[in-house]
Amino acid sequence: MSSQSYQLPSAASGFASGAAAGEGASGPLVSYVCGDCASKVQLTKGDVIRCSMCGHRVLYKERTKRMVQFEAR
Ligand SMILES: [Zn+2]
Repeated sequence: MSSQSYQLPSAASGFASGAAAGEGASGPLVSYVCGDCASKVQLTKGDVIRCSMCGHRVLYKERTKRMVQFEAR
């Protein structure tokens, strides 16, 4: 038993490992609801606040119901 393989602690098992492939973002997913098409959008910290379905930039945070609005640059 000299070669133990690396295993992530069970703490990581509760987190969906199917996060967007190819992205190094490592943060909790936050669910937003698009203010235009009402589709659910999941973003991590640092992601652009933008609906992935219609491109709308006004998203509502699903938990707090507070509006998160980003001005177009
Ligand atoms: Zn939308």
